[in-house]
Amino acid sequence: MKKSREIILADKAGFCFGVKRAINTAFKAAAGGKVYCLGPLIHNPQEVDRLRREGVETVDDLKTLKPGDSLIIRSHGVPPSVLRQAHDKDLTIIDLTCPFVGKAQRFAERLQIEGYRIVVVGEKKHPEVQSIIGYAGEDAIVVETPADLEGMKAQRRLGVVAQTTQSYSNFSEIVLELLRLSKELKVYNTICNSTTERQNATRSLAGRVDIMFVVGGRNSANTTRLVSLCREEGKPTYHIEVADEIRQEWLQGASKIGVTAGASTPDWVIEGVLKRLREGHTSKQPVR
Ligand code: SF4
Repeated sequence: MKKSREIILADKAGFCFGVKRAINTAFKAAAGGKVYCLGPLIHNPQEVDRLRREGVETVDDLKTLKPGDSLIIRSHGVPPSVLRQAHDKDLTIIDLTCPFVGKAQRFAERLQIEGYRIVVVGEKKHPEVQSIIGYAGEDAIVVETPADLEGMKAQRRLGVVAQTTQSYSNFSEIVLELLRLSKELKVYNTICNSTTERQNATRSLAGRVDIMFVVGGRNSANTTRLVSLCREEGKPTYHIEVADEIRQEWLQGASKIGVTAGASTPDWVIEGVLKRLREGHTSKQPVR
């Protein structure tokens, strides 16, 4: 007799407000003619392919664009220098910077004006962090983990903002260290609620199941963070982008399977994974 399996989707999973807004606006804009997006609109290769088919083309820089072309600024935002470049080229700007990222940019700008040296807690190469740094002044620093602060000299005034997808635990550990390293510390907690909700729902689900699937782009920071959280809970965890990657041997002995997804994972991809797990047809091919 076939053993029954319970498949449970996390209470909060998939597109957040900022990504939903960006995707809907991009599709609408492309209905009126081709539009260009500086960098992939979201960190999900399957959705970026769908956008391309509908007329949203990804470009790496502004060099090839002509006056009048429509340029999407994605939810991660861009530094002010890029906005100036786009204006100088007479591009039509569709600014889809998430309002929560915009807030972090404004706090960084304000702290700089007030004379603080700015610390951005986040991933150095992430486009959102690059966009915030653009508002933070030349002496701003990016800190990923408390270890990055080793050897840092004490500062008179430090101002802190976070990449919106940071975990509270990492942010608070760094802030605690910075307290030791500064005479005056001003902190803006710019972590986004959607991120916290997804992380909490994932952690709670991981505690109740045998194995976890995290669905989303391998290039998505918030998705890979969900993978780390599940592993911190001690759960066997598989990071997949699409249903075809699921392998039979992963499911051996698992009666409760948890599924969660990053803020940039579209519903149709999540549905595909749930369907495949319910039907029990899996790939026998090795995964990347
Ligand atoms: S995770 Fe939060 S800050 Fe980032 S795009 Fe979504 S709503 Fe905006």
